[in-house]
Amino acid sequence: ELAAWQREIRAEFPILAAEPHLAYLDSAATAQKPRAVLDAVTAYLTTSNANAARGTYPWANRTTRMIEEVRERVKSFLGDPEPARSRVHFTSGTSEGLRTIARDWLPGHLRDGDEIVVPFADHEANTSPWLEARDLLAARGVRITVHEMPVQSGSGDYDLTALAALLTPRTRFLALTHVHHVYGADMNVHRVRELAGDDVVLCLDAAQSMGHLPISLAALDVDFLVFSGHKALALPGTGAVWSREVRGAPLVPGGWDGTPNTAGIASLGAALAWLQDAGLDRIERWTRGLAERLTDGLSALPAYEVLGCPLSLARGTRVQQRQSIVTFRHRDIESVDLGFILFSEGFMVRADGLCQASGGEKRSSVRVSLHVYNTFEEIDRLLVTLRGLTSS
Ligand code: PMP
Repeated sequence: ELAAWQREIRAEFPILAAEPHLAYLDSAATAQKPRAVLDAVTAYLTTSNANAARGTYPWANRTTRMIEEVRERVKSFLGDPEPARSRVHFTSGTSEGLRTIARDWLPGHLRDGDEIVVPFADHEANTSPWLEARDLLAARGVRITVHEMPVQSGSGDYDLTALAALLTPRTRFLALTHVHHVYGADMNVHRVRELAGDDVVLCLDAAQSMGHLPISLAALDVDFLVFSGHKALALPGTGAVWSREVRGAPLVPGGWDGTPNTAGIASLGAALAWLQDAGLDRIERWTRGLAERLTDGLSALPAYEVLGCPLSLARGTRVQQRQSIVTFRHRDIESVDLGFILFSEGFMVRADGLCQASGGEKRSSVRVSLHVYNTFEEIDRLLVTLRGLTSS
């Protein structure tokens, strides 16, 4: 019955119905939009479009109210246990969200000699802002030590034992990634909180988990959670930073910082409502099923190597769970060429030099990233195509 549910879900994405022979397998870059999101944008722009918190007339008031409602929607979507003590700051995506924390919040909360931990093997958006903050502080005579989040060689999983050994009484801040954008590895955030204790500020990049799996702030116990709306079915140029006041102090003191992306925020509200209706449990079960089918299929093809997931780990013994991202390479065919071959067969994948960064080795690869609209038929068709390239 999951399959029947998914067929109805898929039918809600107009772009997929328009070109049914194409398989969109690049949802980690940005996701497709269900009709409900497009309709919400049209409804907003055709009934209420105005600048927020400026006017005293109905459209402006409706816009202001809509934005407040989406803030509350973000909090409820995340299972915020104390919505009265948290803030939601809208951004254009995860990059801007992380940069905002690194620029506006972090410097004021670090002192000379403090230490932070940063995931160097993760998306650059969650690496460079912290290094820039360190350099900025150094220029002011405040020396911060930046440690690399330890990664196990081979699997690409975070090494939490090594992390525990790294933590000192001077550790103030940890930048984490919920789901890795290349390996799909699912971070055990709760365990990190146990290791770090209550006084360390945890900042979670949820770019690849938001909209893919149930998220509960009560369970994660982080201080900042940053995501991209556009990867969670909302319009391009959307995202948010959730922050709690207790440890973090509010990121933005409230009020309005210029004209917000009102239509984008409306789309985010609609996207989160749509995801809640569809059910994050079912979405996760569906996409992980697809990813496992692909991983297992690739494991049977000697010409391919799955990154961050050695063959011995492919079946059941993974240290960390894998989400809806599978990255691989062909032993003989260049990944960029493989991407072109796949596109000529109707598969849209990412193939422009994504790298395995751990261990210092850089190898390009092809990434297949899935969302609820993808199907087992697409995965099986992809595996047939990949198998056909085995002997070339
Ligand atoms: N972090 C992670 C883990 C990502 O996968 C991405 C997008 N690929 C980003 C940050 C950046 O997101 P955005 O482009 O929305 O700023």
